[in-house]
Amino acid sequence: MRLQGAHALVTGGGTGIGAAIARALAAEGARLSLVGRRLAPLEAVAEETGGTAIRADLVEPEQIARAVAEARAANGPLTILVNNAGIAPSAPFARTDAATWRAVMATNLDAPFHCCKAALGDLLAAEAGRIVTIASVAGLEGFAYVAPYVASKHGVVGLMRAIAAEYAGTSLTANAVCPGFVDTDIVANAAALIAAKSGMGEEEARAQLARQNKGGTLLTPEDVAKVVAELCDPSNRTNGAAITIEDRS
Ligand code: NAP
Repeated sequence: MRLQGAHALVTGGGTGIGAAIARALAAEGARLSLVGRRLAPLEAVAEETGGTAIRADLVEPEQIARAVAEARAANGPLTILVNNAGIAPSAPFARTDAATWRAVMATNLDAPFHCCKAALGDLLAAEAGRIVTIASVAGLEGFAYVAPYVASKHGVVGLMRAIAAEYAGTSLTANAVCPGFVDTDIVANAAALIAAKSGMGEEEARAQLARQNKGGTLLTPEDVAKVVAELCDPSNRTNGAAITIEDRS
């Protein structure tokens, strides 16, 4: 129970990787505030983990401010912020329009910026404030057909490194976690799109994505959550890292 007394706000905490992070942090004793647009999945995970479900669209900065205030009112000052919410639309670069670019930037890069700003005071006042952002291997290298996603994830890795540098020497740490392909709705949707475009079956498309991971298999949300829980440990002083997870060992 390394996180007894901690309060973690997890964005996108109702599904996929975010839900696994919520379960992992709750198992270590943290109180949870789970933020997303759809209330039903948030409430299901909140019930399971004893957390608080908070509906907010993170592309609206005023909704972020309201969500952080609600989280604080329910569970006290924040000690951990997990920027997990994200979207990953896919299209050839030549057919990527400005609206898609803006939507991806707003969700994957602007929202973590606003969340970090809203949480900063609490995190600096905490004994061991922690920011963990779920970036991607696409935050460290290029991939075809997801230019806005790749750019936004590179950006958010940079944001973590900048915060880490600026607050080095305080109790706050900021790190990025960079998984390969993980078995969630994002990969299911990508496999469905590849299958529709190529004529291959969805299982074959999933296998093709899995083969891009170094280990050759899809990661589970729990593989990612385990690394996040390690970074949230008050005794872990890792700061400014971008931790790649590409195989299950
Ligand atoms: P997911 O189940 O689709 O999770 C995305 C979450 O983000 C959902 O809970 C969604 O909730 C929330 N979200 C999206 N837009 C939002 C908005 N505007 N406001 C509030 N919440 C929003 O997929 P996932 O794979 O677990 O993704 C979690 C993170 O992992 C993402 O940042 C993704 O880029 C990253 N990641 C995924 C993979 C992978 O292969 N799956 C690999 C590397 C990194 P609502 O729709 O209810 O708002």
